[in-house]
Amino acid sequence: MLQHHSTAQEAYCTHCGSAHTLPREPAIAAAKDLMARMDLELATDTLYGDARGKMFGVLVCRTPHGKLTTLKAFSGQFNGQWELQGWVPPLFNVKDFHALNDPVEKQIKALGREAESSSDPSILEKRRQLSRKLMKDIHALYRLHNFRGQQSSLAELLQGRGIATGTGDCCAPKLLNFAAQNNLHPLAIAEFYWGKTNRSATRHEGNFYLACTDKCGPILGFLLCGLEKS
Ligand SMILES: [Zn+2]
Ligand SMILES: [Zn+2]
Repeated sequence: MLQHHSTAQEAYCTHCGSAHTLPREPAIAAAKDLMARMDLELATDTLYGDARGKMFGVLVCRTPHGKLTTLKAFSGQFNGQWELQGWVPPLFNVKDFHALNDPVEKQIKALGREAESSSDPSILEKRRQLSRKLMKDIHALYRLHNFRGQQSSLAELLQGRGIATGTGDCCAPKLLNFAAQNNLHPLAIAEFYWGKTNRSATRHEGNFYLACTDKCGPILGFLLCGLEKS
């Protein structure tokens, strides 16, 4: 089941050989506060259309001056945008992403059209190789920072392992990465779903969920590392 009853976000860290933990409960109020403001923050109508809802998250942090601050994140893109004012950015430089992705994406689409009007199987094979190369290059753009002051690309961190599509795009990695980069000490994290129920009916509006195991599981240990000392 994806709706856990545990109240803490836990992740195993290969560096320490132990689990790092971040509580959820103290972030629930900040998350509910965001839920109440969702329509003011975003054009939420897209969350009720064919694209359906998505995960959102808040990270309550202590600043170096001892004040509390709340970071907020949306998973993946919102309305085709990676960056929105007031929300934490993705784990890569968006300009670099577009410079790399957009021309290759065009080529991939052109090969797709070409394949439709041709029986030559080498076109599809070429398209497949191009897609795989693009994913690899995109993964190299992701930079993950932790609370030990370490950084790693997705490719370096998950060497030799398959990387699930969308790894690094969930709320937890965006929030933790931003906090680590900006000298903020995380105190609590909460992730919730907002919008129309997803196709597999595992996510419902207003419900809280722990970080996913397929995409976040392999990277959260690294991202939480050093938290106890920061
Ligand atoms: Zn995830
Ligand atoms: Zn660790």
